Amino acid sequence: MTVRTGTARLGPEERGTALAQMAARELDVVVIGGGVVGAGVALDAVTRGLSVGLLEARDFASGTSSRSSKLIHGGLRYLEQLNFDLVREALQERALLLQRIAPHLVRPVPFLFPLTHTGWERPYVGAGLALYDSLGFSFGFTRGVPGHRHLSRRRALRLAPALRRSAFTGAVQYWDAQVDDARYVMTMLRTAATYGAHVASRTQVVGFLREGERVTGVRVRDLEAGTELDVRARQVVNATGVWTDDIQELVGGRGQIHVRASKGVHLLVPRDRIHSLTGIILRTEKSVLFVIPWGRHWIIGTTDTRWDLDRAHPAASRADIDYVLEHVNAVLSVPLTRDDVEGVYAGLRPLLSGESEETSKLSREHMVAHPVPGLVMVAGGKYTTYRVMAKDAVDAVAHGLDQRVPRSCTDRIPLAGAEGYQALWNARQRLAASSGLHVARIEHLLQRYGSMIGEVLTLIEEDPSLARPLAGADDYLRAEIVYAATHEGARHLDDVLARRTHISIETFHRGLAVAQEAAELIAGPLGWGEEQVRREVEYYTKRVEAERLSQEQDTDQEADAVRLGAPDVVPAVVPRSA
Ligand SMILES: Cc1cc2nc3c(=O)[nH]c(=O)nc-3n(C[C@H](O)[C@H](O)[C@H](O)COP(=O)(O)OP(=O)(O)OC[C@H]3O[C@@H](n4cnc5c(N)ncnc54)[C@H](O)[C@@H]3O)c2cc1C
Repeated sequence: MTVRTGTARLGPEERGTALAQMAARELDVVVIGGGVVGAGVALDAVTRGLSVGLLEARDFASGTSSRSSKLIHGGLRYLEQLNFDLVREALQERALLLQRIAPHLVRPVPFLFPLTHTGWERPYVGAGLALYDSLGFSFGFTRGVPGHRHLSRRRALRLAPALRRSAFTGAVQYWDAQVDDARYVMTMLRTAATYGAHVASRTQVVGFLREGERVTGVRVRDLEAGTELDVRARQVVNATGVWTDDIQELVGGRGQIHVRASKGVHLLVPRDRIHSLTGIILRTEKSVLFVIPWGRHWIIGTTDTRWDLDRAHPAASRADIDYVLEHVNAVLSVPLTRDDVEGVYAGLRPLLSGESEETSKLSREHMVAHPVPGLVMVAGGKYTTYRVMAKDAVDAVAHGLDQRVPRSCTDRIPLAGAEGYQALWNARQRLAASSGLHVARIEHLLQRYGSMIGEVLTLIEEDPSLARPLAGADDYLRAEIVYAATHEGARHLDDVLARRTHISIETFHRGLAVAQEAAELIAGPLGWGEEQVRREVEYYTKRVEAERLSQEQDTDQEADAVRLGAPDVVPAVVPRSA
């Protein structure tokens, strides 16, 4: 093992090295799936001293982990279901993430809870939020967010003038936290790689290596190269979310865990369409609807419906979009229309399957199973509690390894960019002066890169043209696009526009206006010629067109069929079962 100085990059060269290392020797653990759970398992295992590899079939976080509501929360809904342990656990994680593990990526966000009844509702909601606040203590940490407060209708309207006066009688405001979900996963993988984990995207597990019943590794297809390799490991951890049942089929056993998918759709609208200084939470007949501040936008969602169609590209239908608009419009004085919608995304909740048919009633808690020797399955849960899921999965790995493995220490492992972030934040005026960038731009960079901001600024020093914003998506600098390819594991245009940045959902053009410029910026670091640039832009354009058209369809089936008309630039393969 070599001891690294500085934060690991996830550039093309590092991917090649990671694959060579994984093929060269038996690892302690190989993780299948580069969503938040798989990334969490890799970090947990490598910081316990184990040798680790991680394989992701598509881009990191391209499954559910880039398509969530982006909240780090206890879940008021679980409180109402009297699931106090789940809420307490999640709120403790919230405090830890906000204050120690990723203060640069996770930040507090206020929500207004409008009351619609007089009398019983205020004491009921107030008592619930008081409990929510108190469950957030008790980790040796403060809560990390302010406590709730009661507001008259007049004071609530001052905070959220967009609300229709007749739609509510008063309000309670409380605080939770939010995160850029895709960025968090990628940062966790960089952190794991810094501690020595080998990680590679666009590597699909297509089979298992066996010695009798025992799983001894995985057969992997490098989707970029079209070649296959074997990765041997003493324990394999499956963290594939809504693909869990496929992996179980691949290993040939009847599974102990069954996961089914429930679709949730979110819309983005520009910030000026809803005049409010706070997020808003609304009750719906099935669940809740959030209106969440997101930079110069609002994220509004979500829905909750069963999904049995394509899992790599869940499609939002016209009905989903209408549902969200209808529910938010119920409280707004100036209703939103479809013309206000800048972006739409759909994600699939990995729900442990139970008897109930109602997806919103299925458990969000997780399960770890050891179906055959050498294989650990982990699934369910929610983003907020990924660290607990990872710890439980690696405890199961430790059980299967014939050696003493230290306890999980990820509660004391800050993610890359966290150390030194606060001091840089305090010095942001000086950083702005020395870099020549506006202080608002420095703040944006600090909240994306933390103390790794210096690496982005170095790119600008070397090539001052990278200090310019992208023409058509001016929240992002050209340097950020280059950095996504050199340091953050982006391998295709879609990775850059949908996950390293969120241009694909934050602009009315959905990234089309910047596709050529962005592709040209990453062409150098990724070794592309003109033909590849053309191909990337073409595939991205087709994706946007298919998504737009799918959002005009009335049903899931029609939306799915239209979305599938645009193939991936690097398609996954259909694996052969054991
Ligand atoms: C609409 C919605 C809103 C949500 N909001 C919140 C929220 O606000 N807060 C919260 O805490 N939670 C939220 N959640 C839940 C949370 O997002 C998920 O629980 C979490 O992201 C699941 O992560 P995962 O790693 O299990 O799955 P994924 O992120 O889907 O990762 C699984 C990965 O496995 C890869 N894979 C599959 N097969 C293979 C193979 N053969 N070889 C290699 N790789 C493979 C996939 O490509 C994928 O990247 C939300 C979920 C949804 C859908």
